[in-house]
Amino acid sequence: MNLIKANPDAVRKYHDAAQARMEKLRGRNLSLDMTRGKPSPEQLDLSEAMLTIVQPGDTTGEDGTDLRNYGGLAGIPEARRLFAEYLGTTPERVIVGGNSSLSMMWDVLANAMMFGMPGGDGPWRDQNPKIICPVPGYDRHFAICERLGIEMITVELTPSGPDMDAVQALVKDDPSVKAIWCVPKYSNPSGDSYAKETVEALASMPTAAKDFRLLWDNAYAVHHLGNGPVALSDIIKACETAGNPDRAIIFGSTSKITLAGAGVAMLASSPANIKDHLEKINFAMIGPDKINQLRHVRFFKNMDGILAHMKKHAEIVAPKFAAVDEALERNLGGTGLATWTRPDGGYFVSLDVLDGCAAAVIKRCAEAGVKMTPAGSTYPYGKDPYDRNIRIAPTLPSVDEIKIAMTVLTAAIEEVCSKKLLQA
Ligand code: PLP
Repeated sequence: MNLIKANPDAVRKYHDAAQARMEKLRGRNLSLDMTRGKPSPEQLDLSEAMLTIVQPGDTTGEDGTDLRNYGGLAGIPEARRLFAEYLGTTPERVIVGGNSSLSMMWDVLANAMMFGMPGGDGPWRDQNPKIICPVPGYDRHFAICERLGIEMITVELTPSGPDMDAVQALVKDDPSVKAIWCVPKYSNPSGDSYAKETVEALASMPTAAKDFRLLWDNAYAVHHLGNGPVALSDIIKACETAGNPDRAIIFGSTSKITLAGAGVAMLASSPANIKDHLEKINFAMIGPDKINQLRHVRFFKNMDGILAHMKKHAEIVAPKFAAVDEALERNLGGTGLATWTRPDGGYFVSLDVLDGCAAAVIKRCAEAGVKMTPAGSTYPYGKDPYDRNIRIAPTLPSVDEIKIAMTVLTAAIEEVCSKKLLQA
């Protein structure tokens, strides 16, 4: 039944039934966590062999380097080669670092604030910098900006990427608009991937800032759920072709491929940006964990190895996404109370409920023992102006746990949103 069009009596009946269901669920003393997009233990088990793949006496790199020692700031050659293929570029354009791409993003922006970027006019902190944030988006991107005092300007994320009319209008005349966050494939949280036209427009659009950057966080490059991965245009090549060779900085990691706490992270960009970044991080470290890089190279061997491994991930993860979609469809389909994404990959489902209801839905879930990502966290400063977006993270819980959590979530939506309709 479409609740939006239904008469008040029918809505009240619907609400009362949902409320009664919620009260029953509260009595079950559940304790479920649907908050963060972490791999499940079964996914981590897939990489267990990596822990013993490098043995004592077998720690020399392909160029004869003793990988137990200091050095190799840009990463070991065999890892730069493997991850160049992974990121779709050439090894000399890749830095393979420590275990977190997020810390590489922090380094890039913190250094830009203090020292500026190649081609620019010095430290960003002296230029009132602003970064465009497609929303809904990734809370930790927003947290970096907030912490560094970079103003955030939101634009809508559409199924083919950021609203490019809005982006182009923002960057055209204002040199203080310095960058845009992009999660170009299986975006967090919507799962949307950027269309070829969007990639080309981002690469070629005129920008007032001479040092404008695309912060290209390709965290989910191979994280498809079925027949993927979807094709994503080569942003470095597109920028080069458009005459903006230094515009894109790509980030990636194996956090959700191997071990989330012990993966390897990587950054790819133009020769000028790579040189600049190495000079900057040279003050912060002598070299990354090269043994872990060797583990990854030995474990995967090549890109085919990575893709075969990700098929096994998909087998574990896809049924969990299916359980989320099935529950949403069964309980909310046709009601008009919610819309949600059906991603082909990534780690999240983005759910929109009636405006003004998300915080109350999440509160009701918490009262019934189901922890959801806080309302507003997919927006800068934690503030969803519509109070409508909820991020669902299905990877960590089991299918059975997801089914229970979704029973609670959908009942809470039915209760809270139908109440809203009665008050309207
Ligand atoms: N980027 C995106 C879009 C993410 O969703 C996440 C984790 O959820 C990360 C980066 C974190 O990456 P890492 O573990 O490499 O720091």
